Amino acid sequence: MSDSFNPDQWFTEVWAGDGSSFSLAIEELLHSEQSEFQKIEVYRTSHWGNLMVLDGCYMVSDRDNFLYHEMMTHPALFTHAAPKKVVVVGGGDCGTLREVLKHPDVEEAWQVEIDERVTRVSEQFFPALCDKNNDPRAHFFFGDGIDWIEKAEPSSIDVIIVDSTDPVGPAAGLFNRKFFASCLRALGDDGILVQQSESPLYHTHSIIKEMYSEMRAAGFENMHTLPFPQPIYPSGWWSCTMASKSVKVREFRFDDAKQKAFATHYYNAELHQGALALPEFMKKALANL
Ligand code: SAM
Repeated sequence: MSDSFNPDQWFTEVWAGDGSSFSLAIEELLHSEQSEFQKIEVYRTSHWGNLMVLDGCYMVSDRDNFLYHEMMTHPALFTHAAPKKVVVVGGGDCGTLREVLKHPDVEEAWQVEIDERVTRVSEQFFPALCDKNNDPRAHFFFGDGIDWIEKAEPSSIDVIIVDSTDPVGPAAGLFNRKFFASCLRALGDDGILVQQSESPLYHTHSIIKEMYSEMRAAGFENMHTLPFPQPIYPSGWWSCTMASKSVKVREFRFDDAKQKAFATHYYNAELHQGALALPEFMKKALANL
């Protein structure tokens, strides 16, 4: 560690289970509060813009959130034939909702976030992520996504995006067959579920494999995981997992993605095609699940 290291000038998230940690040089703590659900902190960093932390875990930084929000949204929406109604479970920083609303044919986009304070703090410190919150197609419900999806009209949703925290606390119930069965019922026959599925390096043989078996137990037939870089999350390598009843989630509207009329910084048609290719260890671990 360099001799200039001063712990007071760094935010560090320790990932004890795998003996790793990640630090960002900080300049100031801009906000701190204990909401009904979690501790919410916002720091100004020296090189990564503003940083939101929930219960001590990195959530979103100005500098690298585009990787996550784009990959949580565009692969699924270009895999669906014609998404009109999209629901984001979690996603309180509004970055995923913003990406969904870039798709002109989407008619209704819901954000179902259990903790309203996350959204209000994001509106204050991450205005760019919230710049589509006044879109007339955007709808907000602050409550448990598990209940909301359970009560959703059957076959009423085209894409469900689960942009949740790690599978602990209020998010634990978003990773089991009961919730996935609710998703299956709420989705149309050509519906797509996409869920943040943690780190390929740390979680392929645990959380990701468990997600596949829980999704299959719930009735999903096709699952596929797309790894992507995400520096601030543990291991710096993250993933989303798509699931469907009948849609082949390894095929997508390549030409529509190629000709997309909106800007992105990471996602494009060729990148999507490449992200469908799994590393060898993941192919082996996830085969025949
Ligand atoms: N990108 C982050 C990640 O991969 O860890 C997730 C970002 S977003 C801030 C995660 C959100 O999920 C949090 O705001 C949290 O309040 C919300 N959340 C957790 N459990 C939930 C539930 N059961 N229903 C709705 N939102 C939930």
